[in-house]
Amino acid sequence: MEKGRVYLVGAGPGDPKLITVKGLEALQRSDAVVYDRLAGAALLMKAKPGAELIYVGKRPDRHTMKQEEINQLLVDLALQGKTVTRLKGGDPSVFGRVGEEAELLVQHGIEYDIVPGITSAVAVPAYAGIPVTHRDFNSSFLVVTGHEQPEKLDTTIHWDKVANAADTLIFLMGVAKIRYISEQLIQHGRSPATPIALVRWGTRPEQETLTGTLATIADQVEQADFKPPAVIVVGEVVRLRDKLKWMEKKPLFGKRILVTRARAQASELVDRIAELGGEPIEFPVIQIREPADPAASSRLDNAIRQADGFDWLMFTSANGVSHFFDRMVQVGEDVRKLHRVRIAAVGPKTAEALRNRGIVATSLPEQYQAEGLFESLLPELQAGQRVLLPRSAIARAWLPKELVRLGLEVVEVDVYETVTSADGAEVVIDLLLKGSVDYITFTSSSTVTNLWNVISAYHAHPLELLSKAKAVCIGPVTAQTAAGKGIPVHCVAPEATVESMLATMIEDRVN
Ligand code: SAH
Repeated sequence: MEKGRVYLVGAGPGDPKLITVKGLEALQRSDAVVYDRLAGAALLMKAKPGAELIYVGKRPDRHTMKQEEINQLLVDLALQGKTVTRLKGGDPSVFGRVGEEAELLVQHGIEYDIVPGITSAVAVPAYAGIPVTHRDFNSSFLVVTGHEQPEKLDTTIHWDKVANAADTLIFLMGVAKIRYISEQLIQHGRSPATPIALVRWGTRPEQETLTGTLATIADQVEQADFKPPAVIVVGEVVRLRDKLKWMEKKPLFGKRILVTRARAQASELVDRIAELGGEPIEFPVIQIREPADPAASSRLDNAIRQADGFDWLMFTSANGVSHFFDRMVQVGEDVRKLHRVRIAAVGPKTAEALRNRGIVATSLPEQYQAEGLFESLLPELQAGQRVLLPRSAIARAWLPKELVRLGLEVVEVDVYETVTSADGAEVVIDLLLKGSVDYITFTSSSTVTNLWNVISAYHAHPLELLSKAKAVCIGPVTAQTAAGKGIPVHCVAPEATVESMLATMIEDRVN
């Protein structure tokens, strides 16, 4: 068997967008992803569908893998012919033991790439508003390991040199030894009034910053029970934080938000959450694909071939649009087939999808409104007309009913089907268990049902798990479906749009 390749990838400090393009490509191409707790969950969800996600970090309840075992695991996976990504927090070469992992790969003749990452040493202070250099304050910075375990008082650090080697000193793995570190620095000539900051879980929703001076910080850390992991910054640049802090000011800062939606549709919500400073976790519980049933496919193909025999073509979702037109090309037809057919879209997103294909559709209202639903269309809608209705997962049962009531003939065809997908379920369940998810967004009834089904397959008490985060529903129907499962609905967006859901969460965060 051919040996696989290993990518030793820097994941960056946690914000899933702080991975390199090369690192993301490796992740999306790998059959197995080996990660520890510094590699963010949001990033893991970007792995290839079906990829094996292997956690090798600390576990309170189980044996923690030793470095030698991790090295061996990478070798074993590669020898099975797999493409492997070893995802490491920050940059793999900065206190990341990448050398040891690479050495064993060399020994086994396994090819690898080292893909550098953004180190927490620089990025985490930046997210707290502390640039590690500033012309007015310093011309150098030094990154030092604090060797976390308090019992191992460190002999490899030459404190006399370190204390004055650079204007800005940055310690990784130093929280547990903060007293020792600050004492050593004072003893070796740094002023007790030197500003210092600890930034914990930087670039993530849990980001928290503590500032003080070398004289005060150890007591402050104790009082606040400030826990690792954190980056410690010592030097005048820390003063800039007051003026420059920016991340904490974003309207969704500190919020981790589960987006349960098919991948193709999730991007808008995911992008907006990230822009607003929240951390989106994309859980693609639904995958959209062509109908697996050959009978359904051939019904669709026949309808497409006879599309010119219809008076109307009505779409109810953007996905329906893209699948219909893609299929059209696949069966050897093109859009000119529809030149006499009137085309309508339910909802603005569907209309936009049609516009992107050069078609300005007649707009239909998104919601059922008992009276006067089709008033604007009535002159055009006439009894006896034939309507082709490519059916989508978002069922709009009222539409065909209403059309039939008006005396039109409706032919429904399946353009795609949705299947549940459990990729990343363990990662999501772990986050929920820890109470690390603030909101779960439900953008349709099917996202409720699918999330429920996927979680149920992995966990005996789905309700308990799903109750650990606040459920935000796009509209009353979705809320009803959630409530039907017993999920406490925290809020319902007043307008059935993604923007309205975001506004609801922002308001909720302030209150
Ligand atoms: N290779 C990593 C560092 C690994 S050592 C890098 O380049 O960033 C682990 C230490 O990194 C932690 O103890 C902590 O000091 C720091 N660290 C990593 N990610 C962090 C984060 N998101 N917030 C705060 N500290 C972080």
